[in-house]
Amino acid sequence: MNRLSETKVQKLSKDHHTIIEYGPAVFGEGYFTVIAGPCALESEELAIRTAKAVEQSGAKVFRCSLFKPRTSPYTYQGYGIDGVKMLKLLHAETNLLLETEILSTDHLDPLANEADILRIGSRNMDNYELLKAVGKTNKPIILKRNMSATLEEFLLAAEYILSVGNEKIILCERGIRTFETYTRNTLDILAVPALKELTHLPVIVDPSHSTGKSSLVPAASKAALAAGADGLMIEVHPEPHRSYSDGQQALDIPTFDKLMKELSEMALLLGKKSVSTILN
Ligand code: PEP
Ligand code: MN
Repeated sequence: MNRLSETKVQKLSKDHHTIIEYGPAVFGEGYFTVIAGPCALESEELAIRTAKAVEQSGAKVFRCSLFKPRTSPYTYQGYGIDGVKMLKLLHAETNLLLETEILSTDHLDPLANEADILRIGSRNMDNYELLKAVGKTNKPIILKRNMSATLEEFLLAAEYILSVGNEKIILCERGIRTFETYTRNTLDILAVPALKELTHLPVIVDPSHSTGKSSLVPAASKAALAAGADGLMIEVHPEPHRSYSDGQQALDIPTFDKLMKELSEMALLLGKKSVSTILN
């Protein structure tokens, strides 16, 4: 990992950890923070219903994508920029932080004004202009690993954000492409401790896109916590079978609530200092 030797992402000592504290959420070593919400926002009613439910279960960050990078241009592409009014409403109705994907620099101002956390999806991990643009904001950035990126490439993408001044980066492992097709991607669980060895940045896991199957999400979530992840991003939908996208991997509300309780017990056993999200 020679290319990491002069970087700002690299970990300089065993106790070198970046802790990102933002409103009610904390991302970093010793904490375990869960982001939850639908694959994409579909309607105001559904957004508020889902947000209130995940907040009730202990989540402090709501996943609220307005733009969806979809493999087929004929599938649901998201609510679009008009949806920023839903973000305003969600802020008024809940205490959740709002996290949303940014696909283009054209949307930087409206999204950065309304959302609390911006997400760079896997397909844009290599979009260096977008990385530099979010690097100039003061918002925490969730950077998802490209499905074919090595850890070094992943960290150098984070360096693009850091190099222009934004140090609030949360790395997200979301599974990589392998020969296996039973799962949507292959969760590279050892990426978690490996990244935590290499960098001071917080590391979370997306058990939904890595498995593609709601039945496997609880196991992947617990494996992530056991592997040392600082949090999760989980897709939740009150009626997964009616979801416009990724319904097959979304947890319904009771399953999410049960998982949060199990994670909470596990996190305590693992000696997390403060389980900011799951213990209120
Ligand atoms: C997402 O989180 O909405 C998503 C599309 O996942 P990824 O970018 O990891 O494919
Ligand atoms: Mn999805």
